[in-house]
Amino acid sequence: IERTFSILKPDATRRNLTGAVNALIEAAGLRIVAQKRVLLSRAQAETFYAVHKARPFFGELVESMIAGPIVVQVLEGEDAIKKYREVLGATDPSKAAEGTVRKQFALSVGENSAHGSDSPENAAIEIAQFFSGNEIV
Ligand code: ATP
Repeated sequence: IERTFSILKPDATRRNLTGAVNALIEAAGLRIVAQKRVLLSRAQAETFYAVHKARPFFGELVESMIAGPIVVQVLEGEDAIKKYREVLGATDPSKAAEGTVRKQFALSVGENSAHGSDSPENAAIEIAQFFSGNEIV
């Protein structure tokens, strides 16, 4: 059993898609073991995406992450990290497979509706940024 960290991004919450994305998460056999809706500060968004600081789209990325509330989640299941990235589909929605979150809901590479951790190390770091142990049940 593995845990991964998920964000439903502002473009998704704005269009009232929390439930629709959660339905795809649960249909894939992942359990939502923690969830809350928060508004990121600019500093939090910059810290979360610090790995992309040097990229040309960093400013746009930070702006899009603070444009409205996000839903942060911890997902649990067999092979959760890989499975959730399959549920999400390719970063660029025009390349995402049929039935994936990004194929169905993403507006663009920037507004691509959701985030999922890419490794066990990053999952642990990202979960710890938003949840304490007793909030994950
Ligand atoms: P995430 O980390 O959000 O799950 P990812 O791992 O699929 O996405 P990364 O390459 O790590 O993709 O990019 C992080 C985020 O930065 C993407 O989800 C996307 O919103 C944004 N991004 C990536 N490339 C671009 C781009 N060329 N223009 C605008 N935004 C981009």
